[in-house]
Amino acid sequence: MQKRYVLGAMTLSACIILTQVMPAFAGIIGHSSASYKAAQTESVAQTTDFTFLSTDMYTYQKMESDINLFKQKYEGVTSDSIGTTPDGRNIYRIIIGNKEASKKILVIGAIHAREYITASVVMRQVKEMLDKRAEGDKSLDSVCIQYVPMLNPDGVAISQSGMAGLNKEESKKKLQEIIDSWSEWGLKENQDKYNWFLNKWKNNLNGVDINHNFPTQGWNQRADSRKKPSNEHYKGASAGSESETQDLIKLVNNENFSAVLNYHTQGQIIFWSNQHASAEVLAMDKAMADIVAAHTGYRLVSPEADGSKYGTGFKDWLDWEKGIPSVTVEVGIGTSPVPEAQIETIWQQNAGVLPDIVNYIIGK
Ligand SMILES: [Zn+2]
Repeated sequence: MQKRYVLGAMTLSACIILTQVMPAFAGIIGHSSASYKAAQTESVAQTTDFTFLSTDMYTYQKMESDINLFKQKYEGVTSDSIGTTPDGRNIYRIIIGNKEASKKILVIGAIHAREYITASVVMRQVKEMLDKRAEGDKSLDSVCIQYVPMLNPDGVAISQSGMAGLNKEESKKKLQEIIDSWSEWGLKENQDKYNWFLNKWKNNLNGVDINHNFPTQGWNQRADSRKKPSNEHYKGASAGSESETQDLIKLVNNENFSAVLNYHTQGQIIFWSNQHASAEVLAMDKAMADIVAAHTGYRLVSPEADGSKYGTGFKDWLDWEKGIPSVTVEVGIGTSPVPEAQIETIWQQNAGVLPDIVNYIIGK
């Protein structure tokens, strides 16, 4: 019963405040049937419609083909890569709107691997703004929107496809070393636990939680329940140690964003506050959170519970070190990876969020 209680609490907790000393192995219930499709055998058919509109599992390969389709279907869409991951994937950025505009907004998904459904949410937000422009909306004349739908594609590949999802032999060796280092959890002896460990992968290939790795003043005091590479929570050997962290820091430092929208799963809640943020930043955090809440009905997490005291997440770094307003939106219910079937509900809730954030920032 105690384990069931722990699981229930997990369900209600948000990914960035959830810390456990030990994994809840009961979590394999309902996840033990996770199937790991080999990424290399997956063929993405030449489609004429966006794959993020379906309820299939959203992969890196599908995102690549959708980015190309954006460029075919719409004017003024550019993309590049803000960095290459250790397993050889691009961290794609999509840019729309007025590149000369003084106001720039960043939208980001899938910092956490098992939260990959957020990549399809962000891709839907690209389409939403482009469709609004096609219907005559002029807001993209006054703003540049940059999207990084999948900051952690190596981790996503592990969560979705396990060992077979990785490209390089050295990557597979690294993952195997992390698995072996947690042998006391019985991962070798129990296939369900092994599947659980990989399906629940939240970190990057190095076993570091990118969203615990940002170089804030709280990094040294930040609690770390794992203390070595693992599938979740480990904050890394040093602040900003990870290439994905560095790539995102570089992007923010280069672009001087006016606001950032972070998508995570799960819990239908909004992290908006930070005790180290200036009054001006905090007021914008709150205004954006209210916009998100008005559309989604999600609950605002109270400042007492936002975990910002020694926060080392991307939002902590933005609020505390950069003075850039941001909100973290936790979509979906249950446990991550949240079932793909939730995407339609998530989108009904989140459609309209970005256009209103854009108008708020333009009006500032
Ligand atoms: Zn998360």
